[in-house]
Amino acid sequence: MSTHASLRGLAARAPALAAWLDTHAETLDTDATHCGEVVPQLATAGLLRIGVPTELGGAGGTIGDAIDSVADVAEHSFAAAFVLWGQRTFIEYLLQSPNQGLRDRLLPALLSGELAGATGLSNAMKYLSAIEPLQIRAADAPGEHGASGKPAWQVSGGLPWITNLRKQGFVAAAAADHEAGGPPSIFAIAHDAPGVTRSDDLDLIGLRGTNTAALQMTDTPLTDDDRITDNAPAWLVRVRPAFLGLQCGMSLGLARRSLAGTDEGGPGARAAVADEVAALSEQLDTLRARLKAGVAQGDFIETPARLFELRIALADVVHGAATLEVQTGGGRGYLRGLSGVARRQREAAFVPIVTPSLVQLKNQLAAQRAQQLKTGTAS
Ligand SMILES: Cc1cc2nc3c(=O)[nH]c(=O)nc-3n(C[C@H](O)[C@H](O)[C@H](O)COP(=O)(O)OP(=O)(O)OC[C@H]3O[C@@H](n4cnc5c(N)ncnc54)[C@H](O)[C@@H]3O)c2cc1C
Repeated sequence: MSTHASLRGLAARAPALAAWLDTHAETLDTDATHCGEVVPQLATAGLLRIGVPTELGGAGGTIGDAIDSVADVAEHSFAAAFVLWGQRTFIEYLLQSPNQGLRDRLLPALLSGELAGATGLSNAMKYLSAIEPLQIRAADAPGEHGASGKPAWQVSGGLPWITNLRKQGFVAAAAADHEAGGPPSIFAIAHDAPGVTRSDDLDLIGLRGTNTAALQMTDTPLTDDDRITDNAPAWLVRVRPAFLGLQCGMSLGLARRSLAGTDEGGPGARAAVADEVAALSEQLDTLRARLKAGVAQGDFIETPARLFELRIALADVVHGAATLEVQTGGGRGYLRGLSGVARRQREAAFVPIVTPSLVQLKNQLAAQRAQQLKTGTAS
């Protein structure tokens, strides 16, 4: 799909959603007025069911189709794409969870948009890369095994950043270390579980319509019925390609939109950057194809470094595209409300910092290269 063809994609397939996003993109970035409407809007357009098997209530298709849907939304509103990422990634956790009961219980409301899904796994991803310890602890709750007689815990700790904590109701995925030892678990934590507190929205410079807040748990009772996996490290390695692939969808869409924005400059400005725009567009198409093929074939489970390289390359394209859009937009881009140029600058600023961050990945790749040199396995 070429850069410009795709800009018509969402408008053709989900015109009501595309129009809603275009109308509210600025507000979704600058305040929380419409934050409760994003998930229902995405659900009404059918986007939450993409890549979910039909027998589970989905629309069928692949995770690659879901990545494209995140990209399509990001062309119109990065904030909405980030919400879609959170919701669709949580849905993916359930699809890849061995806990069928949990899937049956939560999936229908997540697919219909009645319930918001939030993924608080930055901490777990950083833990996996030995950057920080897990921030949540699960203490065994002896003798309190619930009606089912299954293992039960009391969970305490906090996560400083989680998106899609929709005030009308959410469930959040979080990793917890067991005080009794053994591999950490990942739990689905309901907004109304005892001891769960959501902070006010964080005072962000952008993406303010995304229901981003901190989450605190104090002696929150959970049982095995709430557990997405009992082996977080092994499970995360398998889920990471979908997690990161969907996240890369945000970069794909944003870069595409900025490149298309260079068309809105005058003929002289367009001519000046034409070669750079063509090169970035081509790079973007190549990266998208590699991303989708790698996720579809499961390559990135065994060789995550290839996925990390794609994420870094995409962030570079986003940066380059946003810069070209500024250059061609001229002074108009510096005036409030006249174009999306300033918003896309703020949106682009988020791309390098979302976990796994660019500096994190660069260090991981460097460590891997050093290890390969030591063992003589460098290619
Ligand atoms: C608007 C917004 C929404 C967010 N939504 C979510 C969400 O939904 N879910 C979620 O889980 N998180 C979310 N986050 C968190 C985000 O994904 C990052 O984890 C967070 O911004 C980085 O954490 P920090 O600032 O505490 O990094 P710090 O720990 O202060 O580190 C700074 C940077 O250095 C890197 N770094 C630190 N130590 C090392 C090391 N040893 N080697 C290499 N690199 C290192 C970090 O990765 C980071 O990029 C959100 C953040 C923002 C700003």
